[in-house]
Amino acid sequence: MTLHAPYDSANIFGKILRGEMPSVKVFEDDIALAFMDVFPQGEGHTLVIPKGVEARNFLDLPDDKVGAYMLRVQKVARAVEKGLKPDGLRIFQFNGAPAGQTVFHLHFHILPVWDGVKPGAHAAGGMKSAAELEPVAAKIRAGF
Ligand code: AMP
Repeated sequence: MTLHAPYDSANIFGKILRGEMPSVKVFEDDIALAFMDVFPQGEGHTLVIPKGVEARNFLDLPDDKVGAYMLRVQKVARAVEKGLKPDGLRIFQFNGAPAGQTVFHLHFHILPVWDGVKPGAHAAGGMKSAAELEPVAAKIRAGF
């Protein structure tokens, strides 16, 4: 159902894009914005969202926007890797509520993973403050 609903600009990432909600940003250009997930599944959990498009999910993203956006996802993933030196990285994305999507503006998750540290469950962790997220964000910014 939610896979094909119209885009609702009142979603929380739309508000972050318009500056109506705070976020701890690590990257921004005219194509994408990346910021820290406030309910992280692990240290350094970062989200990358496209700008200038009304895309609820990956299927909605116009063909001519896919390449530039995915380059930003990779760019941010490389900065996360360089800044935090994890042993692995999960890059994932949900489409529609039945698939686990909870915020309906397209986003890719970048989740660093360390040997022996099990990532938390999706959308089930405690909320982190900006003050807690900022030191990790600073390391990621230094990775660009
Ligand atoms: P999904 O469930 O794939 O739609 O992912 C949405 C993600 O956004 C979850 O990992 C949430 O923890 C995260 N999230 C929700 N609200 C905020 C917010 N205000 N700032 C940053 N991340 C958020």
